[in-house]
Amino acid sequence: MNSTEIGDLHWVMQILGDLDAGLIVVDRDYNVCVWNAFMQSYSGIAADQILGKNLFDVVPELPHAWLRRKVDTAFTLNSRGFSCWEDRAYLFKFKNFSPISNSLTEMRQNINFSPLTSVNGDVSHVSIIINDVTDIAKNKIHLLDSNQKLSDLSRIDGLTKLFNRAHWESCLHHQYQQQKLVGNPASLVIFDIDHFKRVNDTYGHTVGDEVIRHAAQELKKASRNSDICGRYGGEEFTVILPDTSANQALYFTERLRKRIEQAVIQVGQHAVKYTISLGVCELSSYQTCHLTWLEHADKSLYFSKQSGRNRSTVFDPAFIR
Ligand code: GH3
Ligand code: MG
Ligand code: MG
Repeated sequence: MNSTEIGDLHWVMQILGDLDAGLIVVDRDYNVCVWNAFMQSYSGIAADQILGKNLFDVVPELPHAWLRRKVDTAFTLNSRGFSCWEDRAYLFKFKNFSPISNSLTEMRQNINFSPLTSVNGDVSHVSIIINDVTDIAKNKIHLLDSNQKLSDLSRIDGLTKLFNRAHWESCLHHQYQQQKLVGNPASLVIFDIDHFKRVNDTYGHTVGDEVIRHAAQELKKASRNSDICGRYGGEEFTVILPDTSANQALYFTERLRKRIEQAVIQVGQHAVKYTISLGVCELSSYQTCHLTWLEHADKSLYFSKQSGRNRSTVFDPAFIR
């Protein structure tokens, strides 16, 4: 090597040292040939502790099988490889010090594996370059979180935290098609608070809101995880009960009705009591689309209102004759 070449090499080593990325070069036996300043400062392993030694001996916590697969591919196929933080968060467990992404305690890493050929064209070494992408990862995670929150907001009713009407109706549509295919029984329940205008008129809207919230809580307590509960309108609620016959649904509505009838809601100095009326419709050949299913449950609710309120009524085909 002449003096110009030695000077060039010196420069190259300086550049690699200053690189804001980890650079490792290994031979076929995984002996480390390059371990730059980035790797030294984040790993706490000095170059003279690792150079010439087996990478897995010095850093035993590395994912052996995975890393061997990546590096061996670069050796045997003479092709580059890549690993994204979304598939594997990191190769080396380094602490993240970035102030803007310190909610992520470990550095997220994108990694490139490149074959290095010797003068005769054989792949003699593989380089592993580790890029710190923690800030990018944090932004992406934050964006995904925000989108999730927005999509939750667009489905959920603010007052009761039940599904809002639009989302509940789309669930109803889906459930109707499912049930028609599978053929299991399924029931739909709709209920409405009795004489709710009086609650508002007597105690004011704030107390009225509290009563609506109470009804929603009782509904949540009474229902199973698989039931789909929604606030259909002001003080009207709807529930889809999969795998539930009309008789089983009636058992559910009567239990809910009695619990509400017995409850006393204390809002400030007011002790408020209220009741609900319910309609039940088990899916059958009378319902030709999801909207008629809802309509027939609503007809049953109407019958409960007509016959004195504070009761449950199961759909009877006579209601539509
Ligand atoms: P019925 O027994 O026949 O159901 O009588 P009702 O007085 O409950 O009659 P209806 O169901 O038609 O009344 C709905 C009332 O609910 C009218 C509306 O002012 C009130 N309301 C609707 N949404 C809200 C709400 O978010 N908060 C409050 N406080 N009141 C609401
Ligand atoms: Mg109503
Ligand atoms: Mg009402």
